[in-house]
Amino acid sequence: MTRTPTGTVHLVGAGPGDPELLTVKAHRLLAQTDVVLHDDLVPAAILALAGPQAEVVNVGKRCGAKGITQAEIDARMIHSAHRGLDVVRLKSGDPGIFGRLAEEIDALSAAAVPFEIVPGITAGLGAAASLGVSLTDRRTSARIVVVTGYHAQKGRPRETPDWKHLAQHDATLVIYMPGHDFASLQDEFLAAGLDAEIPAAIVSHATTPQQRHEYTTIRDLDKLPRLAPPAILIVGRVLENARRRGIENPLLALDETSLILSAR
Ligand code: SAH
Repeated sequence: MTRTPTGTVHLVGAGPGDPELLTVKAHRLLAQTDVVLHDDLVPAAILALAGPQAEVVNVGKRCGAKGITQAEIDARMIHSAHRGLDVVRLKSGDPGIFGRLAEEIDALSAAAVPFEIVPGITAGLGAAASLGVSLTDRRTSARIVVVTGYHAQKGRPRETPDWKHLAQHDATLVIYMPGHDFASLQDEFLAAGLDAEIPAAIVSHATTPQQRHEYTTIRDLDKLPRLAPPAILIVGRVLENARRRGIENPLLALDETSLILSAR
C-alpha cells in the first residue's frame, strides 16, 4: 500500500483588504491549493481568487464557525495535510502580526506537517500608506511601536500596555484592536508624559472601498468617533503634515486609494 505524502500548509498573509496588495505568491497559492481556511477579515474579493477545485472554509471566530477553538483550527489543517491536501491558511494582513501564527506553527511542527510562511502587508502599513504617511519619518520618529490596545489572555482580565515605556515622544504607535475607550487611552498617554498636541488618526477598513479615517490629537482623543471595525489607531508626530493637509484642503483628506477604488 502506498502512503499519501503529507500536504503542505501555507500560512499566508492576505494583506489589509485591497486584493491588489496580495503578494504574487499568495495569489498563486490561492489559485492552486486544495483547501483554504480563512479568517473573518479576509474579504470576498480575495477569496474569489481561490481556484474552482478549492474547498473554502471560514474558520473565523466571529461570523464563521462560531465558537471554533484554536485546537479545532489546528486539527483541520493537520487532518487535511495528512490526507495529502495542500492547505492555504489565510490570515488578514501579515500572519505573524497578532495572528496566532506561533501557536499554529507549534501545532504543525508537533504533527510533522511541512509548512511555509508567506508574509503579507500588515494593516498598520496599509493604513499608513493610505494616509500618505511614512511611519519612520526621520524628522519626527525614531521607531515604530506595534502594539495591541486589547491584550486579551484567556482567563485573565484586560491588560493595559505599558505606555510609560512604549509611548515616547519620538515613537510612532500603531495600535491594533484599539477598542473604543479612547478616554482611557488619552489618560494613559497623558500620564505617560506625551504632549497633548501629538496627532492621532483612526483608520477603518484601510485599503478597501469602505475606508474611513479621522484625525485628532491626544487632547481630543476622547471625542474620536467610533468607526466601524476593523480599525487601527496611529499616534505620533509623523501624522502632522498629513493632518494639516487634510484640514487645509479637505478634498485631499480623501486619500487616493479610496478615490481610485470608488471610481471602479
Ligand atoms: N494579522 C493582521 C492583524 C490581525 S488582528 C495584520 O497583520 O493586519 C485584527 C486587527 O487588525 C483589527 O482589529 C484591526 O485593528 C486591524 N486591521 C486588520 N485589517 C484592517 C484594516 N483593513 N483596516 C484597519 N485595521 C485593520
